[in-house]
Amino acid sequence: MNYKVYFKNYLEKLKDENLYREIPLFDKGDSKYIEIKNKKLLNLASNNYLGLSNKKEIKEGAIKAIKKYGCSSSASRIVTGNFLLYNELELGLAKFKGYEAALIFNTGYVANLSIISAICDKNWVIFSDKLNHASIIDGTLLSKAKHERFRHLDYEHLETILKRYNKDVKKLIITDTVFSMDGDVADLEKIVKLAKDYNALVMIDEAHATGIFGKGRGLAHELGLEKEIDINMGTFSKGLGSFGAYVCCNKSIKDYLVNKARGFIFSTSLPPAVIGANLAAIKFIKENYQLGERLIEISKKLRKKLNEIGFNTLNSSTQIIPIIIGNREKLQIAKDFLIESGLYVAAIRPPTVPIGTDRLRLSLRADLTDDELELIVEGFRKLKERI
Ligand SMILES: *Cc1c(COP(=O)(O)O)cnc(C)c1O
Repeated sequence: MNYKVYFKNYLEKLKDENLYREIPLFDKGDSKYIEIKNKKLLNLASNNYLGLSNKKEIKEGAIKAIKKYGCSSSASRIVTGNFLLYNELELGLAKFKGYEAALIFNTGYVANLSIISAICDKNWVIFSDKLNHASIIDGTLLSKAKHERFRHLDYEHLETILKRYNKDVKKLIITDTVFSMDGDVADLEKIVKLAKDYNALVMIDEAHATGIFGKGRGLAHELGLEKEIDINMGTFSKGLGSFGAYVCCNKSIKDYLVNKARGFIFSTSLPPAVIGANLAAIKFIKENYQLGERLIEISKKLRKKLNEIGFNTLNSSTQIIPIIIGNREKLQIAKDFLIESGLYVAAIRPPTVPIGTDRLRLSLRADLTDDELELIVEGFRKLKERI
């Protein structure tokens, strides 16, 4: 085996298939405007939905924590990596989300891997929406549980699959609440009902809903369903403008995770700065939850205009708006055309999304002004004429 050639060939193949990924040379990719080739573009691709990543109050939370505790936790929390800020954050978060307990993980990716593989083993069956995040799929694979994927948002299909297993089989139903590629939402009421009927545990991922729905507490809170959802996971890294992840659950599931979740036990805990920022972010969102409401409102208005122009936005009902373009060539043309109009929009291709649904994806932010919204509408109006 010639390893040099092995990697090179693999990359060449990706390039041939147009699937090669590169890290773009952005500076301040979280900010509202980014610069590419000396051109100032409105940034509609970041997950900084509420513009909190550079918020004074949150930065000060991080700075205060660094001053008091330094830059590293230097160990897993199970050893010496805990500090009291952690406990304060978990207590506050549990209360904020309406749960008995909360546990912090280093990232959303690690949280899903660790939680799912800690709870499930080969004797479990995991029922997962086909469009769930990659970290849920990877956690499921790591757990060795039986993996049953139901069609996206198709709860009749979910029930058909649930029926195949007898009552004693241990079951976990998992869903994103806001889906990152389609911008639509799970029907948590239906999921909760099925979980009751078939005696399954329910886990949700609120990564794109945290800070936005339910007065910042997520979609489960908005629907008043916290009590019915056993494992409520989310992140600080998107709407909350910081970093890291959490799970809210009852005390015994938390203690179970502390004992079994390998991503928690075998990794150095987040540094003080991150915990300080997270605490400040929760405080900020409690007092400023209208930001999320505004975001949903402007998303609705913009989506309506895009539909009037003739774009298909699937079933989006959130700040994430997919705009179906169709094929790879058209998608590249569309993306370049929008850059000329001053808009930076993500272009998403298969295999990330199904073939034929190559799309642009708008990630809106609450601080878009009326003028900026008009700029988006105009850009898309012209794009429609172009393609
Ligand atoms: C972004 C995301 C994650 C991963 O969270 P990170 O903190 O970025 O690792 C997990 N689940 C969903 C649905 C996400 O969108």
